[in-house]
Amino acid sequence: MPSAMNDVASIATNLAALKARMAAAARGAGRDPAAVELVAVSKTHPAAAVEAALATGQRIFGENRVQEAQGKFPALKTRFPDLALHLIGPLQTNKVKEAVALFDVIETLDRPKLAAALAKEMERQNRRIACFIEVNVGAEPQKAGILPDEADAFIAQCRTEWRLDLAGLMCIPPEGRDPAPYFEILAAIAARNSLTALSMGMSADFETAIACGATFVRIGTAIFGHRS
Ligand SMILES: *Cc1c(COP(=O)(O)O)cnc(C)c1O
Repeated sequence: MPSAMNDVASIATNLAALKARMAAAARGAGRDPAAVELVAVSKTHPAAAVEAALATGQRIFGENRVQEAQGKFPALKTRFPDLALHLIGPLQTNKVKEAVALFDVIETLDRPKLAAALAKEMERQNRRIACFIEVNVGAEPQKAGILPDEADAFIAQCRTEWRLDLAGLMCIPPEGRDPAPYFEILAAIAARNSLTALSMGMSADFETAIACGATFVRIGTAIFGHRS
């Protein structure tokens, strides 16, 4: 059998195992497992893989490219009206129109120019969608996200100047280091700005993220297998 077929067959098993690990991590941290939601990251995987996850009851999905999501999700969203699609990759301002039309949550708001463009486009389409601000918690030069030192001011500006519907914060901690201190930076910025949602944790570090307060974990590989 081609491996893609095996991947689809194993998605339900992978999801069940992952949900059990998420719940155990939440309980271990004295948290309610229901307070941690799973964003199933389906980038590079075919619509059939998304369907296999939908069949288990999974409803929140993450994609990192607007164009790829446009190829997979419009038909699925018609069939599953409660499907929620999160954009988890960088958003260029020339893709804002398509992004606002298709996605239900933008997790990667990271600069004033994008905030202004999103606000304008949401107004134009009369479609208000929730945003997460991406924070570059490790202050890494090559990485997207607002710097931790600039986060408070940007959050305030998004609220007062553009009146965006801010749900919370998102981060991708530096590779190869203990992620816990970085997750704690994100949690602290959220707490002092009265933001409740924290999107943090991927296949390799979601248990740590849950211990640090994650309310959304974004997981691809542990559900859909390795990306080619
Ligand atoms: C791909 C991706 C994920 C999922 O990563 P896995 O290691 O496959 O779980 C999570 N967040 C972002 C922003 C991603 O691009």
